[in-house]
Amino acid sequence: MQRFQCYINGEFADGEARFESIDPATGHAWAEMPEAREADVDRAVEAARKALHDGPWPKLSATQRGKLLYKLADLVAEHAGKLAELETRDTGKVIRETSAQIAYVADYYRYYAGIADKIEGSYLPIDKPDMDVWLRREPIGVVAMVVPWNSQLFLSAVKIGPALAAGCTMVVKASEDGPAPLLEFARLVHEAGFPAGVVNIITGFGPSCGAALSRHPQVDHIAFTGGPETARHVVRNSAENLASTSLELGGKSPFIVFADADLESAANAQVAGIFAATGQSCVAGSRLIVERSVKDRFLRILKAKAEAIRIGSPLDMATEVGPLATERQRDHVQALVARSLSAGAGLVTGGTVPEGAGFYFRPTILDCDGSASPSLDNEFFGPVLSVLSFETEAEALRIANDTRYGLAAGIFTQNLTRAHRLMKGIRAGIVWVNTYRAVSPIAPFGGFGLSGHGREGGLEAALDYTRTKTVWLRTSDDPIPDPFVMR
Ligand code: NAD
Repeated sequence: MQRFQCYINGEFADGEARFESIDPATGHAWAEMPEAREADVDRAVEAARKALHDGPWPKLSATQRGKLLYKLADLVAEHAGKLAELETRDTGKVIRETSAQIAYVADYYRYYAGIADKIEGSYLPIDKPDMDVWLRREPIGVVAMVVPWNSQLFLSAVKIGPALAAGCTMVVKASEDGPAPLLEFARLVHEAGFPAGVVNIITGFGPSCGAALSRHPQVDHIAFTGGPETARHVVRNSAENLASTSLELGGKSPFIVFADADLESAANAQVAGIFAATGQSCVAGSRLIVERSVKDRFLRILKAKAEAIRIGSPLDMATEVGPLATERQRDHVQALVARSLSAGAGLVTGGTVPEGAGFYFRPTILDCDGSASPSLDNEFFGPVLSVLSFETEAEALRIANDTRYGLAAGIFTQNLTRAHRLMKGIRAGIVWVNTYRAVSPIAPFGGFGLSGHGREGGLEAALDYTRTKTVWLRTSDDPIPDPFVMR
C-alpha cells in the first residue's frame, strides 16, 4: 500500500495516527494516510505563525513571491499527470476530467503569480493640513483552509494562490475522503522553494482535525469549502478565535431551457452540468427548468444521452462517469432518490446501482412536475437531475429562485433581451448564458444565501487575503497644539 505524509514546517511527517484510504472504484483500501490530530494541528499552525513574522517570507518582495508562485505553477503543469492519477485513484473522479482540470490548475497559480506585485495600497486626500495618510494592504495572516473531497487541487489552488500572492501563510486541511493529491502536491511546494512553514498541508477527520484547526487561536482567517452544515460548525468554531471566514458551499442550481434554445447544444451542457464529476460538483445544474412546449422533446434527447454515458473504471480515458467518492455518498444519493420517488417524482432514467464493486450510481433523471419531491430542495452531490416545467418567463424565474442556495444558474435561449432580464433577476453568484460550468482564474466564483459568501478567483480574491492598515504621518515640524482638541 502507498503511504502518504503530512507536510509541516517544511518537513514530511507522519500524523499522530494513520487511516486507510478507500479506492471508490473497488471499495478496497489502497493507501495509508497520516491522521493529523490536535498536536499536529498545533505544530502546523505555529509553523505558519512563525513563518508569517520571522525568517525569509515576510522579507521577500511581492515580485519574489510571484516568482515562487510561477515556479509552483510550472511544477504543477509538469506533474499534472501524476496528480491527476492520484486524484482519480483516491476520489473516483474520472481521469479525463482530472487530467484536464489539473493542467488548468497550473494556470490559476500562474494568474496569482502575476497578481502578487499588483496588490497596491492607496493614498488618501485627507481633510487635514500637514498630514499624509495612506493605506497599506498587508497579508491577513495565518489562513486555515479546509476543503472537501471533490476537485481538491482546484479548490485549494483558488485559496493557496491568492493567499500566497498576498503574503499569507497557511495550513491546508485536505479532505479525509481522498487526500492523496494534496499530500503529493506538498512535494511540489517543497521543490518550488517556499520557506518552511509558509504552506503546511495536513489531513485528518472533520470533528478532530478540522475543528482544532478552525478554532485555533493563532488562525486569522478560515477559507472553507464544503457543505452548509459543516460550515455552521466552522463559523461556530470561529467564535473562539474571531477569525474571518469565507464560505464556498453547496448549490441547487437552476438550468433554464426556453423553447427557442438550441436544444441539442443545451442538452450537452446539461449533461456536463449534472453528470460530469458524477454530479459531485457544487455548481451542478441539478434543477432543469424547461419550457413546457419542449419538455418531452428535451427529455427524450437527455434520456438518450444519459443512457449512452460510459460508466466504468475512472482510470480509463474512455470512462465518462465513475463512482461516487464514498460509500456514504452513494447511500445518500440512493436514499434521496428513493424518497423522491415515494413523494411522486417520475423516473425518466437511471435510479439504480449497477452490479459489481465500487460506489457507482447510474445517471438519473427525475420528472418532478406535480410532486413535492425532496430532490428539488436537497443537494444530492451526485448524478441526479430533477426536472420541472414552466409556461412563462416569470414562472421560470420564480422556480429558479425557489431555493435557499444561490451558487450558479444556466439560461438557454436565443432571445437576448430575455437573457438579460433573467440574468438580473436570478439570485446566484454565477450566471451562465448558453453555456455552463465554465470557470477561469480571471473570473470570481462564489454564491449567495446557503451557498456561502466570499469570492474565489479573480483579483478580488487576492484582496480578500489582505487587510488594510491606515498610516497617518504628520508632515509639520511645529509643536503639536492644544492636546485637548482633537485634530
Ligand atoms: P463537508 O462539509 O462534509 O467537508 C468539507 C471539509 O470540512 C472536510 O475537509 C471535512 O473534514 C471538514 N470538516 C468536517 N467537519 C468539520 C468541523 N466540525 N470543523 C471543521 N472542518 C470540518 O463536505 P464534503 O461532504 O466533503 O463535500 C461536499 C460539499 O462541499 C457539498 O455540499 C458541496 O456542494 C460542497 N462544495 C462546494 C464548493 C463551492 O465552491 N461552493 C465546491 C465543492 C464542494
